[in-house]
Amino acid sequence: MSITIAFSEKVKRKVGRSGYMERHYDMGQWYPKMVVYDHNGWHPDQFRLGEFYGEFATYDVSVTLPDDYVIAATGDPVEGDPGWKEARARAAERAKGAGDRGAAGNASRTKARGMSAAEKAERLKKISSKEYPNKTVTFHAEKVHDFAFVADPSFALQDSLYKGIEIMVFYRPWNRATWQDSVMARTIRTIDWLERIAGPFPYKRMSVVDTPTRGGMEYPMLVMNGGADDALIRHEVGHMYFYGALANDERREAWLDEGFTQFQTFWYAEEHYGPYGEAKDKRSFPYNLFPRRKMWEGIAEPVIQLKREGFDERISTPAQNLNNYTLMAYVKAPLFLRALRYTVGDETFEKILKEYYKKWKFKHVDEEAFLSVCKDLSGMDLDEFFRQWLHTTKDCDYAVKQFKVEQSDDIYKAHVKIERKGELMMPLTLAFRLKNGNTATERVDGFLRTIEKDYTFDVKPVSVAINPDNEILDIYQLDNFKPRKMHLSLDVPFNTYYPENAYDFRLLPIGFYNDIDGGKLGLRMRGSYDNYFRRFTLQGLYGFESGSFDLYGSLDFPTHYFRRDGALSAEGYYREGRQGGRLEISKIRRKYKLDPLAQHFRFYLTYNEMTDSSYTYPGTYDSGKDIKAGLSFAIAPTTDIFASSLFTSYERSIWGSDFNYERFKIETRFTPPGRSPLPVKMRLRFFYGQSTIDPPSQERFNLGGAGSLAREGYFWLRSVGAFPRDYYDNFHLAGDANMRGYTDAAFNFKRVFSSNIELSLPLPISRTRGFKRKLGLDMYIFYDWGKVMDKGAAGELPPSIKSNFAGGYDPLDHIISDFGVGVKIWRLRIDLPLYLREPGLKDETEKWRLRWLIGVNGVF
Ligand SMILES: [Zn+2]
Repeated sequence: MSITIAFSEKVKRKVGRSGYMERHYDMGQWYPKMVVYDHNGWHPDQFRLGEFYGEFATYDVSVTLPDDYVIAATGDPVEGDPGWKEARARAAERAKGAGDRGAAGNASRTKARGMSAAEKAERLKKISSKEYPNKTVTFHAEKVHDFAFVADPSFALQDSLYKGIEIMVFYRPWNRATWQDSVMARTIRTIDWLERIAGPFPYKRMSVVDTPTRGGMEYPMLVMNGGADDALIRHEVGHMYFYGALANDERREAWLDEGFTQFQTFWYAEEHYGPYGEAKDKRSFPYNLFPRRKMWEGIAEPVIQLKREGFDERISTPAQNLNNYTLMAYVKAPLFLRALRYTVGDETFEKILKEYYKKWKFKHVDEEAFLSVCKDLSGMDLDEFFRQWLHTTKDCDYAVKQFKVEQSDDIYKAHVKIERKGELMMPLTLAFRLKNGNTATERVDGFLRTIEKDYTFDVKPVSVAINPDNEILDIYQLDNFKPRKMHLSLDVPFNTYYPENAYDFRLLPIGFYNDIDGGKLGLRMRGSYDNYFRRFTLQGLYGFESGSFDLYGSLDFPTHYFRRDGALSAEGYYREGRQGGRLEISKIRRKYKLDPLAQHFRFYLTYNEMTDSSYTYPGTYDSGKDIKAGLSFAIAPTTDIFASSLFTSYERSIWGSDFNYERFKIETRFTPPGRSPLPVKMRLRFFYGQSTIDPPSQERFNLGGAGSLAREGYFWLRSVGAFPRDYYDNFHLAGDANMRGYTDAAFNFKRVFSSNIELSLPLPISRTRGFKRKLGLDMYIFYDWGKVMDKGAAGELPPSIKSNFAGGYDPLDHIISDFGVGVKIWRLRIDLPLYLREPGLKDETEKWRLRWLIGVNGVF
């Protein structure tokens, strides 16, 4: 039967995989494709996610294009001129050093990329009148399930015959520095590697093509790469096996193509660069001052975290139904293959891979095809292994419960008791470290809930570990060691290393000053396992002048009492004339990890009491026990047009409190989304706070910025003199009504409404945009307006301020506002607000008054 389909398609400007950019054409997924019929029936898939399921066929494709073009395609050219001779000459000419750097390079790029509008019009006229010389090139390809081509008149070509394979590297001349020679060498290395682990390369031609693509994209015999990176070439060229020859349904079982090729990429790095992977991943200063995880531990980290938080997914889920497609197909699937390699052994695994390729080359494969080869060659019943890893989200979690060593004569008997805490079952490796520095390993079946074994040694064993390299993807490795491991480091910024198998302690000597305590010195210690479990902070300081000790402690950990995403925390403090504590339960409600509609709920009890008023500024804090219960809710949905957030809380004083009040607060923000095309970005915030009966000063709403309880979180704002007295009001902590012009003195009220508007200004420093982004440089103008809604608000003010209002005039009866300019550099913010309209809140009589503020947190 023969079917003829006539179709026409407009080639669009390039988005994702396909389209044109200036004179460059990437043509993938461009024609009506035959639907696959297999033992699961028809697969009439729509084009989504860039992945597809194609039927093997012989392709004869003729492409007609202007005769100055160079074309790279699936298959061999059988008729017409693909322009390779010119492209080869271009590469050779450049190899001789004919300049394509600097000005000459830019000129060649401009010439290759663009034509003037007049040139374009002229060309179009010629083409439509058929005057312009075109050429037709025909390609022939067999045993392929897709056909793609790339055309670009500026291409340079390097090609070479290697082991009977025509390897072709097409690059755009301005990328010569990264592409010439290196891509050829990397491709050859990759082919060598793939032939070693799987078998002979499936095609007689392989084109690696430089395209304006993010990452890369595979087609039979051709890959479009957005860079010359070694790992990218390995991944994409690896697809010639795992996608090209072993052709799976990429949508239904992404792990069979993406998982396999990513696994071989990691495997290569492991073999060639050792346990830490590729050397080029070595980090820059100051991160290089700290240790980092081994390659596989680093790869496993996000999957383990996903599992701990309860967002794991099944690897076998079809791509379009995954919330975490990338993590599942590119990370968890390779971890599954690593676990399989560990289970069957390295040697058997290599045999499996070779047999799988040999048997299924140029056929459709699925889980069953791979599983049957695994079972045949390993002689193991792997059904349950595959089912657990691919079709469930079960966790692997083992623990050493007991490790006892007894000595009789010269023989040491070690008794080991292991508990299986998780549902996923794996064979285990026990690693004993011996007193003479050697390691002895034993293999144990991890099927039972409790496993008890005795081992004898000639040398005393000092420790035991379950799978110290974690090939089994154990999600809680702390208890895999006996004795447990501990790690100590200095608690400084940039130290982001948390060992995956040890409890981490970090220490920091601290010291500061305030007028009452004088100089203070102390130590802070924090601890956690993987910065997630059992987190605590302990801090102690001694004040040399007052002779008093400060103490602070906190504890927080995840809890499963409220299903996933629950946490409990507690803190207590005794410092600088104040004492108190907080107990909190929090819970996030979300469908998946990056759910933009995640809802955060908090319930808390707090106690704050001032016992010595000499530490605080007048009007900021009232003596007495302030005990309250609170409930808060937050949500932050993001759309294409803006990101927004809503925070609301309700609090009330409870038994034992010396105060009686209720407090309600709502705050909402609108900001531009991450990537906004507009040069001027507007940010908007609304705030409303209302309290009833008689809240103490520290529980009222501050007009100028965050109130005294929030300021206590910053040691330099906590007590008199920690920040120079004269400039205390110049330090602005964003929050509450945030009227930046009114930060002088403590204007605390019961009812306040306000709004802040900021316009971020485009900075004329486009040349150093990377620099600008690194520094987080932002310049903006702002306008704050609001109203104190308390009845007779001025009556609530301290007498020293009240006395300034002459003749019963109360400026707080009116809308008040300020405006100014600000600049933010990294985290430091400098704002210059001007009063507007209503002066006189302190002892100032000017209509306008300029002030300056610095701060470290932003309003937005
Ligand atoms: Zn891929």
